[in-house]
Amino acid sequence: MNEIQDQLARWFEAHKRVLPWRSEPSPYHVWLSEIILQQTRVNQGLDYYLRFIARWPELPDLARATEEEVLKMWQGLGYYSRARNLHTCAREVMERHGGAFPADYAQLRQLKGIGDYTAAAIASIAFDLPHAVVDGNVYRVLSRLYDIDTPINKQEGVKLFATLADELLDRKHPGRHNQALMEFGALHCLPSNPDCPQCPIQAHCLALAHHTVAQRPVKEKRLQVKTRHFHYLVLRSSDHHVYLHKRGPNDIWQNLYDFPCIETDQPIEIEDLLSHPTLLALTSEKKFSIGQISHKYTHKLTHQTIIAQFFEIKIDGFLSPIQTKDILLAPENDFGGFPVPKLIENYLNQQ
Ligand code: SF4
Repeated sequence: MNEIQDQLARWFEAHKRVLPWRSEPSPYHVWLSEIILQQTRVNQGLDYYLRFIARWPELPDLARATEEEVLKMWQGLGYYSRARNLHTCAREVMERHGGAFPADYAQLRQLKGIGDYTAAAIASIAFDLPHAVVDGNVYRVLSRLYDIDTPINKQEGVKLFATLADELLDRKHPGRHNQALMEFGALHCLPSNPDCPQCPIQAHCLALAHHTVAQRPVKEKRLQVKTRHFHYLVLRSSDHHVYLHKRGPNDIWQNLYDFPCIETDQPIEIEDLLSHPTLLALTSEKKFSIGQISHKYTHKLTHQTIIAQFFEIKIDGFLSPIQTKDILLAPENDFGGFPVPKLIENYLNQQ
């Protein structure tokens, strides 16, 4: 074992957080925790992890659940394609591997939602196979340790850091090594104010020697963020029903439920909204009046910002069922069974 591996292993044993998937690192536990923790902080993810395990203790239990149940359990975590992939993956493991994750990187990689990182994490942590993981924490630690200015979000950087991580891997204890490197990035070598004076590997850190710690890692500027304006129509009938809208493919929040929506590039005036064909089609010549108009909600996603406003439309009489698959009639206080995006949840919580 080289000195850096040794120092990281000791640091890990002394400082690692006690987490349920660490005490019992079965492939199912490792996989579930890794999928939940992508783009999610450990504190928030832990809560979801415990709820998933309580409801579906083993992989076959999760595979038997419906997609809607999984989406409902996932509600609030965002990035809902991860939940759909999680569910598909559980079913694939049942069908192709008899319910047990394969102890093989290439076969893991074939499963839905399992990319390079997750395959390496399961292979190394659950099976102790020699595959190096590279997550955001690892990028940061390695870019500082070796003082690398190649952007981590360019193909060249991805390749370079994968090679460096592989060279540094402790092949006798790959699971512990990978976790140590990630945990070290998460707790010690922080994005801002890393604790360099107390760092166990400071003697090897080139960025510290070159005074470039604050500039590492280098990231190329992100794509432009698109702004979308959602004008939600919350139609309420006299008998307390509303229309819900099931979101379709090729857009955000696939298969989740929101309200019928008029989407524009710019905000629209209330007069234009009231004469909009979507609203007229939904009210089908019934008498209606405008109720509460919400404030504007700003909801940020990776490449888009949603500015949403909710318009309560009070219908004089009943709402008729609509003959399209994506609009359904539901009691206004019975959203319990329908998975909804965080934005809709925020709105409902403020009612
Ligand atoms: S010396 Fe500082 S920047 Fe370098 S690895 Fe340690 S904590 Fe990170």
